[in-house]
Amino acid sequence: MPLGEFDIIARYFSRTTPRKDVLLGVGDDAALLVPAAGQALVAATDTLVEGRHFLPGTPAAALGHQALAVNLSDLAAMGAEPAWALLSLSLPAADESWIAGFATGLYGLAERHGVALVGGDTVSGPLVVTVEVLGFVPPDVALRRSGARTGDLICVSGSPGVSAAGLAELQAGRATFEAKDPRVQRFLRAEPRLALGRALRGVATAAMDVSDGLLGDLRKLARASGVRACIDLERLPIAEELSGYPPAEQERLVLHGGDDYELLFTLPSDHFGLIARLAQAGGCSVRCIGAMTAGAGVECRREGAAIALEGTGFDHFAR
Ligand code: ADP
Ligand code: MG
Repeated sequence: MPLGEFDIIARYFSRTTPRKDVLLGVGDDAALLVPAAGQALVAATDTLVEGRHFLPGTPAAALGHQALAVNLSDLAAMGAEPAWALLSLSLPAADESWIAGFATGLYGLAERHGVALVGGDTVSGPLVVTVEVLGFVPPDVALRRSGARTGDLICVSGSPGVSAAGLAELQAGRATFEAKDPRVQRFLRAEPRLALGRALRGVATAAMDVSDGLLGDLRKLARASGVRACIDLERLPIAEELSGYPPAEQERLVLHGGDDYELLFTLPSDHFGLIARLAQAGGCSVRCIGAMTAGAGVECRREGAAIALEGTGFDHFAR
C-alpha cells in the first residue's frame, strides 16, 4: 500500500524536540511557539523547484539538507540564532525511501543547530520544497545590508566558488552525485555559517550571505549601504579545491558562484583581527578582499588598476 499524506507526516516529520519553546509541534492545526523575550523574531523562507534550483536526480538527503541550509544561511547573515522551521513539500509520488532520505538530511542539519521542525504541509504535485525558518536576534545587533561605511573593510568567509565548481562538474558529466569529489560534496552539503554570523553581531557594519555570487551580492550590499565597494582581485580566497582550473576560471567561480553559504560582510578595520581569530577558532577562515569608499557600485582592481568585469549575479526574471 502506498503511503498516505498522514502516514508520511507521522512517520517522517514528527520527531520530538527538546526545545522548551515548542508548546505544540507537528500534529495539530498549527504549532504553538513561545518567542524569546526581548529579542526580534527573524523569519526567512526559500523555495527550491526541481530543474530550477536543484538538478533532477539530486539525492534526497542532500535536498533535505539544502532546503533547510539555504534558510539557515539567511538567518546566519542576520546574526540570528535559528529556533523553528516549517516545511512545505510537494511530491510527485509517495516514494518511501526518497522521503526517508530527505527527512534524514533535513533533520541532520536541524538537530546540529538545535532547530525544531514544528509544522508544514504535504501535497502531491511537481517536486517543490519550501522551508521557512524562524529565529531570534537582539534587535540592536541584527546584521543588515545597509550599514557599511566608507573605510570599512570588505570580508568574505571560507571558500566561495567550490559549490559552483561541484555543480559544473556534475553538469559536465565529469562527476556523479555519489562522487567523493570534495567540490561535489560541498555543492550538496554546504554548511551555513551560523556561528560566524553570531560572532559578527555588533561588530560587522553590514552582512549578507553569498547566494547569487560574490560580485552581484556585493553590489547589493553596496547599494543598500549607499557606498562604493572596491575589491582587489589578487586578494580573493582561491580554495585548494579549485586548483584544477585555469586561473581565470578560478576567479570566475569565486566571483560568480553561489550555494556556498559564505558570509560577505564589512567591518571597521580595527575589528578584523578579532573576527579572524573568532572565525579561526570556529574552523572557518575569513579574508579581507577590499574596502568601502565613497560613491556607488563595485570596482574590481587588478594590481591596483580598475578593470571592467561582466556579470551581476543570478536573477530569476532577467532576460
Ligand atoms: P491542516 O489540514 O490542518 O493544515 P495538515 O493535515 O496539512 O493540517 O497537517 C497536519 C499536521 O502536520 C500539521 O501540524 C502540519 O503542520 C503538519 N505537517 C504537514 N506536513 C508536514 C511536513 N511536511 N513537515 C512537517 N510538518 C508537517
Ligand atoms: Mg487544520
